[in-house]
Amino acid sequence: MIWHSMLGQQCGFRDGDMERIYLDYGSSKPIDPRVLELVRRYLEHNYGNPSSLHSVGLEAKRALEEARAKIAELINGENERTIIFTGSATEANNLAIKGAALRNIGKGKEVAASTIEHISVLNSMKELQKNGFILNLIPVDSTGIVGLEKLDKALTKNTTVTSIMYANNEIGTIEPIREISKIVHDKGLYLHVDATAAAGYIPIDVQADGIDLLTLSSNDLYGPHGAGALYVKPGVKLQPVLLGGGQERGFRSGTENLFAIAGMGQAARIAKDEMSQEADRLKGVRDKLIKEILTIEGSYLTGHRTHRLPNHASFRFNHIEGESILLNMDMHNIQVSTGSACSSKTLEPSHVLLAIGLKHEEAHGSMVLTLGRSNKMEEIPTIVKAVEETVERLRKLSPLSK
Ligand code: PMP
Repeated sequence: MIWHSMLGQQCGFRDGDMERIYLDYGSSKPIDPRVLELVRRYLEHNYGNPSSLHSVGLEAKRALEEARAKIAELINGENERTIIFTGSATEANNLAIKGAALRNIGKGKEVAASTIEHISVLNSMKELQKNGFILNLIPVDSTGIVGLEKLDKALTKNTTVTSIMYANNEIGTIEPIREISKIVHDKGLYLHVDATAAAGYIPIDVQADGIDLLTLSSNDLYGPHGAGALYVKPGVKLQPVLLGGGQERGFRSGTENLFAIAGMGQAARIAKDEMSQEADRLKGVRDKLIKEILTIEGSYLTGHRTHRLPNHASFRFNHIEGESILLNMDMHNIQVSTGSACSSKTLEPSHVLLAIGLKHEEAHGSMVLTLGRSNKMEEIPTIVKAVEETVERLRKLSPLSK
């Protein structure tokens, strides 16, 4: 496993002694060493602006189009022109939602999304709501699956864009996108899918799935931060959000971040080639981890048991609190995430956990493990022991468990 040890060295993990066990790949991934090599080359030598007409510019343009083609291939886009580069998944979500709603305002002023969408989707829709749009939020069941009948009822001829994520980043649940797309398309409407958490782990085929707009992130594919992409099906009309020099066919002005984009292209190619093998490997680790952690008293899986991302294991524990879990696990040098409180400076628990029906106090006790290329079966005993110790320690301190 040369590949794992390269990644390990690069992340500061020490191979063999389990010094660090990183289980937060959903928040940020190390750049793939093969991608890093290419990015370094671009930073050093390919400094051209793809809009310049001289040879250095043309070289940059070629690199940009190559990356576009690789990303289109990963999701089976019709051609490379369907890919618009952005600076992040957040920006792609903003462009998809505000862009589709505002460009198609003649059709109506309604938008729809599931209650568990990423905040960049929900906040884009809330901004439209402030400007007179009606926002229809579609509930999910206790495993996070979107209610298809409720979706069907909520959509009207005035709905300009419906956004449902491919898979949820906090609970790992994979949505039935083809069934959702059928409902949306039977009404002649546009479907936007945020595939940030799913891409690179499960196969995505925008044509077979029936997707009009699809969001991707470079770093989630082990590419550099600073690039994202929006797939736009041929014929779908969008209004740009960023105005300026008309780059990206006018959909996203601003000089393209070429080194990050070239890296994203390379990361997409690697994901396409290696996804199925890596997903199978991670599924084995995930399932064993879930089985072992659920033997802890008062622990529960969040999200769907089987329709879940191969790298995703998420839990809640009675009577304890997610941030304390995270900090205690970090003392064991194991990095995890919590859906509970809030990067967002509020004490509200995660909107996703509330949307699947958890009470506030239940939603506060959450721990999210997102696995990646450095994780191995052999790490499981260390992880489980650390979780057991953490839960026991925090329960002793918790007034709720008395
Ligand atoms: N959508 C989903 C599902 C996410 O998990 C994230 C965060 N990784 C985003 C969108 C936004 O990504 P970024 O912060 O890189 O723009």
